[in-house]
Amino acid sequence: MKHTAVVGINWGDEGKGRMVDLLTEDYDIVVRYQGGGNAGHTVVNEKGKFALHLLPSGIFRPGVVNILGNGVALDPENLWNEIETLREKGVPVTPENLKISDRAPLLLPWHRQQDALEEARLADKKYGSTKQGIAPFYSDKYQKKTVMAGELADPEKLRARLRGILAWKNLTLTRVYGAEAVTEEELDEWLARYGEAIRPFVCDTGEILREADRAGRRILFEAQLGALRDLDYGIFPYTTSSNTLAAYAPVGAGLPSLRVDEVIGVVKAYSTCVGEGPFTAEMNGEEADRLREAGVEYGAKTGRPRRVGPLDLVATRYGVSLQGATGLAVTKLDVLSYMDRIPVCTHYLLDGEKTDRFPFPARLEEAAPVIRYVDGWGCDISGVRRFEDLPQAAREYIEMIEQAADCPVGYISVGPERESIIRRAH
Ligand code: GDP
Repeated sequence: MKHTAVVGINWGDEGKGRMVDLLTEDYDIVVRYQGGGNAGHTVVNEKGKFALHLLPSGIFRPGVVNILGNGVALDPENLWNEIETLREKGVPVTPENLKISDRAPLLLPWHRQQDALEEARLADKKYGSTKQGIAPFYSDKYQKKTVMAGELADPEKLRARLRGILAWKNLTLTRVYGAEAVTEEELDEWLARYGEAIRPFVCDTGEILREADRAGRRILFEAQLGALRDLDYGIFPYTTSSNTLAAYAPVGAGLPSLRVDEVIGVVKAYSTCVGEGPFTAEMNGEEADRLREAGVEYGAKTGRPRRVGPLDLVATRYGVSLQGATGLAVTKLDVLSYMDRIPVCTHYLLDGEKTDRFPFPARLEEAAPVIRYVDGWGCDISGVRRFEDLPQAAREYIEMIEQAADCPVGYISVGPERESIIRRAH
């Protein structure tokens, strides 16, 4: 029996959603264990194209139980809207296939408001927040100034608790930011609408995971964003506010003692980065526009054009070690087919020296990329399904990643569709 985590190796948007969607057929349970609705997985399947923000990607598979663990930023409003969108497209979302941890703290309406107010205050020094309230939410979680989803079971008690928190939060909204206070009526209305809507899904997910583990069922942990966005080990302060690493999966899922047997690190065949912060190998101008167009690199949540760059072996090696990846999935290899020669960032230059170590975050701005060009393959590879059938240059590209990261590549994705995948046995 194997429990597996599917995690991002780089800055996020590596195509984890697509990998989880593919792998869910072998698992009974899919768990989101961190993050919130601030990023988006894009999944393409027979029901259409979906941008998932909070729901686990297993939601499309009949029989799969999907769990939102205690580590996520549970935004009842966004979650409910997402559930309704899926239902409208014929995807059933019920308390049978979606379970929300009773220990998941609630992202409250003022978190989004506070996020936007702070980004506006920062003006040109902003972090590039998606304004989904994630940073204020996690700060408040650590300050114990929110409530857990399980508290929805007792609306009277919950309302009293939240009114106390609201009075405290209004001090920040009005006195720090000079914004309007949130009224108790607004809070009550929000609770009646969204709190009630998600209440039937709330349960003790730790118990479900424990039972599943005992019964030999397989659990898949699905991460949001990538290793370089991890709060503790990423490019702080341009990280997210949660832990994106596989090591956090059992804690954020609801069963801290569970062992993750396999960690699949998802690496994109080139680099993308959303928002602000150092991005050492960033491409600019026409070269960047061409890659962005070829890979359709626009944010799933915001529609913002993503910053693009070549594959960064320094960052990738670091991400693989942070994740403890036991195998890799390389996505979007097909996107590079138009290039005659493919740039790859092999090292950084720091203090006049070539290094393959990923620098301390505060020193990243001083690093410059060392770029090497490798051969392109010059043909469409989207129909290839076996590694041996890839052109030699494409095989060498994959082997270069394996060597640099010291980790085997088990999957190569050559298109967004479920079946556009090359599986390799090692
Ligand atoms: P995630 O958050 O890590 O799942 O990343 P995104 O939501 O940014 O997903 C990556 C995007 O690339 C989605 O639009 C996918 O449909 C698409 N995609 C995933 N894998 C491939 C691939 O191998 N080739 C191509 N051309 N597109 C892909």
